Amino acid sequence: MITRPCPICDVALEPEDYEGFRVLRCPECQGHLVELTRYDAIRRLPSKGLAELETEARDGFQGDSAHVLRCPRCRGVMAKQPLHIPGFDLHLDLCKGCSLAWFDGGELAMAQLGYQTTAGFRDRQELKRRHEALAVDPDRKAAFEEAVAQLPLERDTLSQSFKESVFDALGHILFRTTLRWPL
Ligand SMILES: [Zn+2]
Ligand SMILES: [Zn+2]
Repeated sequence: MITRPCPICDVALEPEDYEGFRVLRCPECQGHLVELTRYDAIRRLPSKGLAELETEARDGFQGDSAHVLRCPRCRGVMAKQPLHIPGFDLHLDLCKGCSLAWFDGGELAMAQLGYQTTAGFRDRQELKRRHEALAVDPDRKAAFEEAVAQLPLERDTLSQSFKESVFDALGHILFRTTLRWPL
């Protein structure tokens, strides 16, 4: 396998299994080089829990790289792309030609955390809960669906508190990092 240098530290990136996907990780700055086609799956299908992702994000995060990075494969300039975590100004670095994305240390876990606050994630969790409940007791399908339909406020409250805990986790990480790395 060809070695690729870290776009920040220039040390050789090491292959790693991340959520079942092959990625390259920097042993120094804990950044990840991920194929774009795999990023969406990693983001949307986290097998790690909230606490695990929070630990990973906290331990790895050293700040969002502000300077222009060069693609570890083609050496071309990478483009800054928002990570789409509401309320947080974080970026991944993207080489469109190679379909490679660079995540600074901890940012991949933060992207996973951030996705958990989106409507798509909540819908998916809700569907999963419903399927699990129906599998346990299929006879109560109609009653269950009716109950779910009649409890919009409770469902929203649950989602909201979950969303808040994710934002708390991300906020703590960024706050700590700012203290550790004054600009
Ligand atoms: Zn590095
Ligand atoms: Zn490239």
